Amino acid sequence: MILSLSDITKSYQTAEGQISVLRGVSLDLARGETLALTGESGSGKSTLLHLAGGLDRPDSGSILVSGREINKLDDAGRAGFRRTDVGVIFQQYNLIPSLDVKANVSFHAKLARRFDPLWETELVEALGIGQLLQRYPEQLSGGQQQRVAIGRTLAAKPPLVLADEPTGNLDESTADIALDIMLRLTKSAGIALLLVTHSSRLANKLDRRITLSGGKVAA
Ligand code: ADP
Ligand code: MG
Repeated sequence: MILSLSDITKSYQTAEGQISVLRGVSLDLARGETLALTGESGSGKSTLLHLAGGLDRPDSGSILVSGREINKLDDAGRAGFRRTDVGVIFQQYNLIPSLDVKANVSFHAKLARRFDPLWETELVEALGIGQLLQRYPEQLSGGQQQRVAIGRTLAAKPPLVLADEPTGNLDESTADIALDIMLRLTKSAGIALLLVTHSSRLANKLDRRITLSGGKVAA
């Protein structure tokens, strides 16, 4: 398994009191497998992705990535984990404003010491961002930024990619094409993908699908 969550719980303190978001979530993702995560708004999908990406800690339960318990890592171990073991694509893209598209796409690959110009060229062509390489993020549309964010994450060839509605800003037919490209590229690189989507049409393109409901994985 590339990712194993066992009995994860997570709650938040809010002004209205404590809300229990995840109430015992377990899931396994095999190497190279693609899994769609669906569920109503507020069901905890983004929370789960943050935990699996080492960006937040659960209240209880274990999170194994490539067999390592990420909650036992110290800060340096956690930073190294985020650099080399996992790629995340968030809804807000988080492109680096001071870098052009080409430098944004290479950024994580260089940090992870996995920069591969041939793979990067393949990504740039597949994602249709070749004309944008000299531009800066502020000069791109939402859909273009989303494609650059996808390219940047895949360029580093992490064994695991976590993506939160990565095509949510694209119209239906463009989203379909972008996801097809993502799936082709992840499969060809052997990357496992956990993809949050509220679209059944998109979820059905992946190997498996699970749904979060009431803080648990619905049967
Ligand atoms: P989803 O991605 O499925 O829409 P989220 O994981 O973003 O759901 O949120 C699940 C619940 O947790 C929501 O009720 C949300 O308001 C709450 N929540 C998420 N993050 C925080 C936070 N940092 N502090 C307090 N509540 C939060
Ligand atoms: Mg969300």
